[in-house]
Amino acid sequence: MGAVVYVNGTIRPADQAVVPVFDHGFLYGEGIYETLRTYAREPFLFDRHVARLRHSASLMALPVPFTDDELDARVRETMAAHLEMTPATSSGELYIRVLLTRGVGELSYDPAVCPTPTLVIIVKPLALPAERTFTEGIRLALVSLRRNHPDALNPVIKSNNLLNNALAMQEAYRQGADEALMLNQAGEIAECSQSNVFLVLDGAIVTPPLSAGLLPGVTREFVLDLAREAGVPARETRLTPADLERAAEVFITGTTREVTPVRAVDDRPVGDGRPGPLTTRLLAAFRQRVAQPA
Ligand code: PMP
Repeated sequence: MGAVVYVNGTIRPADQAVVPVFDHGFLYGEGIYETLRTYAREPFLFDRHVARLRHSASLMALPVPFTDDELDARVRETMAAHLEMTPATSSGELYIRVLLTRGVGELSYDPAVCPTPTLVIIVKPLALPAERTFTEGIRLALVSLRRNHPDALNPVIKSNNLLNNALAMQEAYRQGADEALMLNQAGEIAECSQSNVFLVLDGAIVTPPLSAGLLPGVTREFVLDLAREAGVPARETRLTPADLERAAEVFITGTTREVTPVRAVDDRPVGDGRPGPLTTRLLAAFRQRVAQPA
């Protein structure tokens, strides 16, 4: 696996990194996380990820006991330890997962029983999708499982409690698809199990608004900005499965997926079944931007 893990101040190889079973992250799924990746071995869009982590924490009354600079220092310390402990696997780009849980305490939902949140930072080599994924596109399964209703468990919280996402993805695996596309309770398109979704409709790129119940993806925001800078009309709008059928192009966005074209939804090809011009242009713009020194 080649992972190195920071747990509350101690950095160890993955097989020695442990969190107590009385951690409420384990007992109740009370925790949040961020997934980052490096470009040129620099964590990409760190500030936006930390801002989202803080927002997730605020929505579950979880204290964040460090400043942005302190978290940055701990991430870099874990990256340095990774290089030191696993030099053979640490030369390329890195995957970084930051987790913050309620911490260890008695069996009670009272946050007061857990005075100290648990901070975990996982650093491991970044496993990238095959380049074919970007040149040929992926297949989505429009799954029957609905995205969590915001009034029940708001998808804005990037929660460690990923059962909704995992069950959706299980459905996609059973259908041999690469990613699960989920609707909200109103039958509108929300997002995928691990990524946000965009359609190309009438020459514009469109994506559901946050009010449709989805994670505010860092890459989603970055791609909306990139599109606007490139003069491509981009907007947030409510979308239904009928829009999928008339979409000229579909793509997904995510930290490790960048801009990934979708060639089919279930058994229906999108457009001519190949990555379309706007998707290809946005992926190129994205890659150009990440290749520029910060
Ligand atoms: N939606 C969900 C449910 C996700 O898990 C992810 C991946 N973190 C995304 C969207 C994409 O978010 P980001 O661009 O910040 O990686």
